[in-house]
Amino acid sequence: MAIKEPFPELDEILASIGEGGQRIATIDAAEGAAGNISVCIGWPIEIRRRFPVAEEIRLPQPAPHLVGHHVVVTGSGRRLRDITADPAANLGVVRIGDDGETGTLLTSPRRLFERLTSEWNSHLAVHDDTVARTGTNFHAVVHAQPPHLTYLSHVPAYRDEERFSRRLLRWEPETIVNLPAGIGVLPFMVPGSQALMEANVESLRRHRIVLWSKHGVMSRSDVSVRRAVDRIEYAETAARYEYMDLVNGERAEGLTLDEMRAVVEAFDVKTTLV
Ligand SMILES: [Zn+2]
Repeated sequence: MAIKEPFPELDEILASIGEGGQRIATIDAAEGAAGNISVCIGWPIEIRRRFPVAEEIRLPQPAPHLVGHHVVVTGSGRRLRDITADPAANLGVVRIGDDGETGTLLTSPRRLFERLTSEWNSHLAVHDDTVARTGTNFHAVVHAQPPHLTYLSHVPAYRDEERFSRRLLRWEPETIVNLPAGIGVLPFMVPGSQALMEANVESLRRHRIVLWSKHGVMSRSDVSVRRAVDRIEYAETAARYEYMDLVNGERAEGLTLDEMRAVVEAFDVKTTLV
């Protein structure tokens, strides 16, 4: 996928990040300063009017496929629910330099943060990997901490990736339509670490959303922030059903394999899960 002309304006992208942040907060997946959002833009775009303050930075790891791209990303410690009120104060924009190892961080004089999000390395790595693989000119990445998904990852039996998807995709017919590759599951890794960054990139090659055990999720979309947030909502709703069923003594049927196969056939879903 790629976004076609006329390309969205910067203000529309800032508004979409604000709206995404509010929806994540609405589903209780961004307590305090938890969660972060970034958008990678591959077309020429005017940034300086909103973000006139420039400083040179070293990227957390090389991003050779993003040379000349802009990445809009949340500041560390900022609240996702507050972005809408003043996007420029809560977001920074990094123009990736010609060497792919440095960049120019553009911010507003109203900037309310010292550093970019602590998960900046994972955002950057997923953008670089996806652009390299697919050539998309737009890519949104969202990290949130939805309680039901995260709770299930504390139960050892749910950390089996295939089992996790099979259990969660059985509650609503549209879940497998929206998450045909299921949900990736990673073991616990220290937030912001190199290990998490690498495992996250690998899992998001195969999935549109990945669960970071005992922490939260990361989702991506080459269409919109809204679509990336939708994936988190679908997965979290499924996890809520699964949790309800556990506390209710597992009395529910869920969709049977035959029922799920009928959905997959009717909607022509490419999946190996049923
Ligand atoms: Zn987090």
